[in-house]
Amino acid sequence: MIAVGVIGITVVYSGLWAKLTSHAGSAFVSKEMAAADSEALGEDGADEVVQSVDMVAQITPVSKARKSNSTISKNKDYSSFDKSAWNLLLVNKQHPIPEDYSYTLGSISGNMKCDERIIEPLNDMINAANEEGIYLKVCSPYRDLNRQEYLFKKKMKQYLNTGKSFIDAYREASSVVTVPGASEHEIGLSLDIVSTSHQTLDEKFGETDAGQWLMNNAYKFGFILRYPKGKEDITGIIYEPWHYRYVGREAAEIIYEEKITLEEFIEKL
Ligand SMILES: [Zn+2]
Repeated sequence: MIAVGVIGITVVYSGLWAKLTSHAGSAFVSKEMAAADSEALGEDGADEVVQSVDMVAQITPVSKARKSNSTISKNKDYSSFDKSAWNLLLVNKQHPIPEDYSYTLGSISGNMKCDERIIEPLNDMINAANEEGIYLKVCSPYRDLNRQEYLFKKKMKQYLNTGKSFIDAYREASSVVTVPGASEHEIGLSLDIVSTSHQTLDEKFGETDAGQWLMNNAYKFGFILRYPKGKEDITGIIYEPWHYRYVGREAAEIIYEEKITLEEFIEKL
């Protein structure tokens, strides 16, 4: 998992229809980039995850949950954080990717890409884990909008085929596969990470040595467990022990220590 170099592709969002352009402003990103994630490893919304869907079908609206769930210490100094910083960009169902958001993709290895600014901390984290005998494996990093749409439609179809109404199918699909245009994978700051000995995106990963190592160490490199257990009513997403998001070391440390989500952190800024 060593970076093999950085390519100069800038991703520019324009509404729901993301335009992918090079620095020169003309070339389109090839399909192979969209296929960077591995089908065999599953996606957010893999079949193993779907079994948990009933648990989150009754999601509390985020605004309501926030009011009753604020556990952040009032003594923390949040004044040094800039809400508009790229690493703190909040993307979820209520906060789609801003139309003018742009960044440059870099190469993790092979066809796997992410925001070039997080490659160094990612490699540092992978190397630190290696030194402790933990062999992390990145799967499904950056996804383009078409890939996200494909995954979402596939999930919708599954639910519609079981006789659910469109609204029910949409609600359930959006809790296991992020709504296109609202996925952190599209901004290149999120990675699904497993290990060489556990390559399935399921809850059991959280109990493995690698899952535990990530939970206790990722913050040191600026990454947070983005969808923790017990916070489903705030994130709107089921527990995903494999999904890590880069927010920078300072923010990650607070989020880790306070046991909060990015939503709760941002609320304080
Ligand atoms: Zn993910």
